[in-house]
Amino acid sequence: MSRFANIIVDISHEKLDKTFQYIVPDEFQDILEVGMLVKIPFGPRKIKGYVIELTDVAEYDITKLKPIAEVVKDGISIESRLIALAAWIKKNYGGTFNQALKTVIPVKQKQNHIIKKTLILATDEVYAREQLAIFERKHYTAKARLLKALIEFKEIDQIEATRKLNVSTAVIRNLEENGLLKIQQETTYRNPVKNISNKGYDIILNDMQKQVVDTISPSIDKLEHKTYLLKGVTGSGKTEVYMELIDKVIKSGKQAIVLIPEIALTYQTVMRFYNRFRDLVSVMNSKLSPGERYDQFERAKNGEISIMIGPRSALFTPFNNLGIIIIDEEHESSYKNETIPKYHTREVAIYRAQKENAVVVLGSATPSIDSYYKTKSGEYELVELNQRIAKKPLPTCEIVDLREELKQGNKSILSRKLQQKIEDRLQKKQQIILFINRRGLAGFVSCRACGEVIKCPHCDVSLSQHRNGKLMCHYCGYTIPMPKVCPSCSSKYIAGFRAGTQKIEELVKRRFPQARVLRMDFDTTRKKDSYEQIISSFSKQEADILIGTQMIVKGHDFSNVTLVGVLAADLSLNTSDFRGAERTFQLLTQAAGRAGRGKELGEVIIQTYEPDHYAVNLACQQNYVDFYEKEISYRRLMRYPPIWNMLVIMCSSKNEDIANASSQDITNELHKKIDNPREVQIIGPADAVISKINDTYRKVIYIRTEEYSKLVEFKDYIENYVRDNKDFSRTIVQFDFNPISG
Ligand code: ADP
Ligand code: ZN
Ligand code: ZN
Repeated sequence: MSRFANIIVDISHEKLDKTFQYIVPDEFQDILEVGMLVKIPFGPRKIKGYVIELTDVAEYDITKLKPIAEVVKDGISIESRLIALAAWIKKNYGGTFNQALKTVIPVKQKQNHIIKKTLILATDEVYAREQLAIFERKHYTAKARLLKALIEFKEIDQIEATRKLNVSTAVIRNLEENGLLKIQQETTYRNPVKNISNKGYDIILNDMQKQVVDTISPSIDKLEHKTYLLKGVTGSGKTEVYMELIDKVIKSGKQAIVLIPEIALTYQTVMRFYNRFRDLVSVMNSKLSPGERYDQFERAKNGEISIMIGPRSALFTPFNNLGIIIIDEEHESSYKNETIPKYHTREVAIYRAQKENAVVVLGSATPSIDSYYKTKSGEYELVELNQRIAKKPLPTCEIVDLREELKQGNKSILSRKLQQKIEDRLQKKQQIILFINRRGLAGFVSCRACGEVIKCPHCDVSLSQHRNGKLMCHYCGYTIPMPKVCPSCSSKYIAGFRAGTQKIEELVKRRFPQARVLRMDFDTTRKKDSYEQIISSFSKQEADILIGTQMIVKGHDFSNVTLVGVLAADLSLNTSDFRGAERTFQLLTQAAGRAGRGKELGEVIIQTYEPDHYAVNLACQQNYVDFYEKEISYRRLMRYPPIWNMLVIMCSSKNEDIANASSQDITNELHKKIDNPREVQIIGPADAVISKINDTYRKVIYIRTEEYSKLVEFKDYIENYVRDNKDFSRTIVQFDFNPISG
């Protein structure tokens, strides 16, 4: 029994981002719980809100408090554990409490369950036959049809009865009223896993896999939180290790969450879990309806399932006794939420696991620099799988210098070497993947004669070409006019680099008219299932060449592919983003991993304007450790994450003057807060990478310092400063900690 409820209103506006207190009326004393959705009088209106705390302590003048009006019947209630998680998310990433609550619940409203109705014959057969005779004599044909079927089958699904027998609900009701049939009702949950195969499970882990399992198991047994980073080349058997660990967790009566990037969450992956764990598995993905999503969370809460597989939102599955969280492909940028609150799934997962004494396993062939760094500092423990199952060799790799190609008079995007290899594979009836990295389309400028990329002298990121033709740094705003010749070699072949998959498809078709070509990119995969269709068509060898963006490099096993061509490795190197080299290394390593999965040895050709760049070179050698060392020393030099932490404050407004003024105002406030400028760097304000979206101008300020908690203090300070400041009524201020894309 509590007298008051503290409530977060269901409106995401900074000005309303605080708890409001209401009286709990007697009628709700027995039913009201923390996490419930209620309606409250709010000014002249009634609005919805979530109860986040019940208390006897009045925080305001009691005579002014109003009572809760009603408890919303179809509202989703949030578990207190998840409310605490939402509070942590709000604290560490900004945004309103309401936005944080929305993050931890999958749907806004309760969804009606599907009720399965079965019609059952309710009398003995002799009597039923007598009645049937009467119906037939009177030409009650519909009634006769239904009763005859019931006599034959004893029970019929209602939907089938109406559809196949073509009888109306009135007829069914009539038979029910006359005591001839009973209707049995049963709630069924929508289960997104269909077409279960009966394949058994028969894999025995090899010694290396066993060793990894043995290293991690004690933490599971001791009910002790710990984070492990499992570094293992693709095909080294990581997924089998996950399943073995999950098996242990389930046997001890606990549950498991498996996070997989949406793009890699394929039918095949889900089936592997399903074959082993059967009905204990459920899946979340963006194609589920709200009803299906809701059901999966209900099933988890009721203990009906023990394993939830899904993209980042599956992290909030309300399991009561969580034992393990697995994050596969942990380096993927999709684990960063790009809407407010901009949380990183890995960080939230580790926080949740700490609170619930669960183990976290991060898996990747190319771990993020952030995670690998934490294994060095002892925060995570590193475990490794260094060989592919069946000891299949890694493909050979060769780098082609595109500057040389131009010198020799070849202006095509396909080098002569790559053309010759493609020709060879087409003759041998082997398949080819051509990978084009589209991330670089932001428009960096490079010299096609010497490879020089035009960079900012202050930030060591490439300048981007703007609509007005000028070159600009997105970190500090440094701007220069577009040069007429290369500043390094004076060549006039200097241009913004733009090349799309479609253009390349045309080119390849023209050059190899005999080849069957498939293209996979954002455009060709917009329709439902088209992604799976292209993959399946290519694995059935219905095409010779597959051209595509990053989508094609994720974990697919094409056994007949013996050649992978990377058309321009530099396209992700020169984004205005300090993680450019890391992303390039990951993509190239993964793309290379697509070759030589079958009997034949694979071969990789990487075309590049920067053959000497360490990300290109070391990816070609599949040398992660050396890459890490190079990259971390660069980050150390530049004080980029994970060495220091970084906070981006974005001010957006429909009015550019206001956007400028408010970002300048915030910058001034920040400078006032700093006592030691050597410990905190403030850069900006400057235009955001995309400086205008939907006529809204975006300005950014970067703050870098060693301690994350210090950045949280800056965020809190600016949040407060902005909330009650009239000058900010037309500005939206948002926070992004350790951004993933520049
Ligand atoms: P990863 O997740 O590291 O890419 P997988 O777990 O998918 O690797 O394993 C690659 C392939 O090898 C899969 O087809 C898997 O079924 C098979 N595999 C894994 N471990 C074993 C094992 N111990 N014995 C036989 N086959 C295995
Ligand atoms: Zn040049
Ligand atoms: Zn700069």
